[in-house]
Amino acid sequence: MTAEASAAETNDFVSFDLAEPLLRGIAKAGFEVPTPVQAAVIPPALEGRDLMAAAATGSGKTAAFLLPIMQRLLEAPAPRAGSRALVLVPTRELAYQVLDHFLAVGSYTRLTAAAIVGGDPRNHQVNALRRNPEILIATPGRFLEHLETGEADLADLAFLVLDEADRMLDMGLAEDVFAIVDRAPAARQSMLFSATLHRRGVPEVARHLLRDPLTITLDHHRSAHPDIEHQFVRADDPTHKARLLHRLLTEAEDVRALVFTNTRAGARQVAARLAELDIRCAVLHGELDQRERKRVMGLFRDGSVAVLVASDVAARGLDVPGVALVVNLDVPRSGDDYLHRSGRTGRAGRHGLTVSLVGAPEWNRMEGIARYLGLELRERVLHGLEARFKGSPKRRKPTKKAAAKGTGSRVAAKGKAKAGAKPKQRERDRKNIGKRRLPSATPATGQGVEAGFDPPKRRA
Ligand code: AMP
Repeated sequence: MTAEASAAETNDFVSFDLAEPLLRGIAKAGFEVPTPVQAAVIPPALEGRDLMAAAATGSGKTAAFLLPIMQRLLEAPAPRAGSRALVLVPTRELAYQVLDHFLAVGSYTRLTAAAIVGGDPRNHQVNALRRNPEILIATPGRFLEHLETGEADLADLAFLVLDEADRMLDMGLAEDVFAIVDRAPAARQSMLFSATLHRRGVPEVARHLLRDPLTITLDHHRSAHPDIEHQFVRADDPTHKARLLHRLLTEAEDVRALVFTNTRAGARQVAARLAELDIRCAVLHGELDQRERKRVMGLFRDGSVAVLVASDVAARGLDVPGVALVVNLDVPRSGDDYLHRSGRTGRAGRHGLTVSLVGAPEWNRMEGIARYLGLELRERVLHGLEARFKGSPKRRKPTKKAAAKGTGSRVAAKGKAKAGAKPKQRERDRKNIGKRRLPSATPATGQGVEAGFDPPKRRA
């Protein structure tokens, strides 16, 4: 079963019939209107349904699962029971964000919660677990350790949430998650949230976790982020990319920007280049220890540095309000990574912009991502910094060896196509009519948006 909900159906939180202290907490948190994910998730969750929802970071998914759980805990107090809700998340950052959310919307209730995550002292966690907070927010590895030593106990568990299930799978946490789910009482309500429900492994986890679930698939790109604009800029090489980035950052005044690279080394390099160009920035990469990470995030949060360069892994679960610009210095490896990155901007109804710098070898990947997500991706040309690389790159002629194997390199090879060669009309291309490609025509140069292409119809 698929639920397509619109915010218009439920345009205020009062209609959910939530307890007064929760409504006050929601008002205090500054939430006026439920997001589409909240409008779709909260009513069935209040009825006790198991569900899985395709919801990216920034969609308001946290309140979508916290509010119904908190409401039901308030409706049936059990002061002597053990913990009654467990939210599993992939990273400690995300755990603390969920806890912050809980503290914000729950500030007028007496409900309690604790974060049990790797990297924090175990003895503090044991003390916290002994106090039986109603809600536990945990990373799987550490929580499983506490279950194994008997410090944690799921006997009274009534609600189990898997948040960012796709990320958990990416991080190799599936086994720990399964072990925890297996120890939870069968009589419980379970919910699964994932940026995409199609990622390999998510359906298996869902089958293991959920009973007769409702599947909630909103158009996660456009519904979750109606305020994000997506642009791309052609780029020739890393030096050109650095100049483009510099322009983007200096053109946008007072902008808090997140720059993503695919690798840790790339993050360091671009930070060094920006420093040479007099732009102060901080770098967040997976090798930083917790203290350094906190310090870097602090600098970015309090505005001491306006630009944060991050790799995907390091940026998991990052929640920084007011990020107006996300730059993909490298085209992300997957559509889901794109979604996670761009979801750092345009939050809570603010306008956001994601700009991807696309080199010739990245063209096909960008095209695939745009098609997968149904992005309305527009080309932007920065005056004086036009790329030499103009058109859609030609497919490289297969080498003799590749031809013999029946494989051709899909990597774009600029200048390799024979000059004046007649473009071949392939059957495959004819079949692909209707599947949009990035524009291959050379755009007129100038400032701002120059060319665009409409999103294709989404796949069911
Ligand atoms: P999430 O997707 O749960 O990480 O939430 C993304 C951001 O949106 C967080 O900063 C929330 O505080 C904010 N938020 C969640 N729900 C709402 C809402 N209904 N109205 C305004 N902001 C919201």
